[in-house]
Amino acid sequence: MADRYLHFTGTAPGRFLTRRLGLPQPASLLRWSPERPVLQGELLHLTAGLSAHTEALGALLPRTGLRVVPSAGAPAAVVLDATGVVTVDGLADVHAALQPVVRTVASGGRLLVLGSHLSPDDPEQAAVQEALGGFVRSLAKEIGRGRTAQLLRLAPGGLSGAESTLRFLLSPKSAYVSGQVVQLAHTTSELAGDIDWERPLAGRTALVTGAARGIGAAVAATLARDGAHVVCLDVPQVADDLERTAVRVGGAALPLDITAPDAAERIAATGPVDVLVHNAGITRDKKLANMTAENWSSVLDVNLGSVIRTTQSLVKAGVLGEGARIVATSSIAGIAGNAGQTNYAASKAGVAGLVRALAPGLAAYGITVNAVAPGFIETNMTASVPLMIREAGRRMNSLGQGGLPEDVAETTAWLAHPGSGAVTGQVVRVCGQSLLGA
Ligand code: NAD
Repeated sequence: MADRYLHFTGTAPGRFLTRRLGLPQPASLLRWSPERPVLQGELLHLTAGLSAHTEALGALLPRTGLRVVPSAGAPAAVVLDATGVVTVDGLADVHAALQPVVRTVASGGRLLVLGSHLSPDDPEQAAVQEALGGFVRSLAKEIGRGRTAQLLRLAPGGLSGAESTLRFLLSPKSAYVSGQVVQLAHTTSELAGDIDWERPLAGRTALVTGAARGIGAAVAATLARDGAHVVCLDVPQVADDLERTAVRVGGAALPLDITAPDAAERIAATGPVDVLVHNAGITRDKKLANMTAENWSSVLDVNLGSVIRTTQSLVKAGVLGEGARIVATSSIAGIAGNAGQTNYAASKAGVAGLVRALAPGLAAYGITVNAVAPGFIETNMTASVPLMIREAGRRMNSLGQGGLPEDVAETTAWLAHPGSGAVTGQVVRVCGQSLLGA
């Protein structure tokens, strides 16, 4: 399971040899740790065009923990406020602002472009703001050295509801997220003043399905780190592993098959749920010509059917109340398609469709619903992939390596954050900007 190539390229002989042979040299990603909770260095705040948010952004950016400066030698992060760019000619300001600094951004640094919502009444503004998406996705492919680039589109209300997302995208927690476009929605529930940013989920209960191992176990640990009481759910066959996860995170174990007809009732019996993470998933890979009906329906039922049923039942029963967060698990296989995975890709595309379809209705209850779409993540699921395909999966992304379960967990924690009420209906890829489906 270990990425030996990444370890090798991190050594002096490995660096020398791979450079001489012209082989890829993926950078070691600087992930969150208690010792390194924020990026090390300065944040360069730039503006293209005339922005209405300069002052508010100037007040908000220091809250990321970085020192904000108007110019820097090797910034750890660059934020370009392009919300005021409304014409094709105005895009020249984007080039003018970033072209001189792009090379100077520190290894493992962040480039974040802020855009505004697309105006339905101004086609040029809408086109130009869409253009920023293509720009950022291309830049993310160019910059290398573990650096990432994203576009954050603000809601019509400007920066309101943006803080948790700014903090996430400008932190080590988003190390394996790159080339993403996140759209914020207008939110009336601006809670930022009340948030404990150290333990944002304190006093809240999270339920994580498929928590015995892999990504689910990492999600449980990360939500517990953020203060949540975590109910860990997995099939009874892995009850021992599940119990170990529950003990490790100081939570409770719920051995339960999520496809059971009474699954929602059994979850409801544990009490109110503030954060529901649909992580449980299975693969039964075969080309369609060889796929049995059983392999088809089991994957669709675990990965999609149970997600729809439990979500709807728990919302209806009021188990998920005002301010609740739902995070479901899609996959880049669902976005790009994958030979041998018609069942799996259908289920994961369905998850993306589900969160988009549910978001507007749930907004009325103050509930958000989003999906993470992992790329190649180092888990048991990917360890069983044949060697050559596994190696291709690891390298075929802008960061040149697989992600860790913690990368998906950090993204989930951002979506589960009480301050993330403006993030809903989004499908966020955690894939190092995989070339698949890009
Ligand atoms: P994993 O196989 O290591 O863990 C999945 C867990 O889900 C297991 O503990 C399993 O027992 C549990 N589970 C399966 N069926 C269940 C059911 N009916 N009820 C309750 N629990 C059940 O997988 P992982 O790699 O940690 O993946 C987690 C999620 O991320 C899955 O939804 C998967 O499709 C998705 N994903 C993973 C990757 C990757 O690269 N590993 C990529 C894209 C998406």
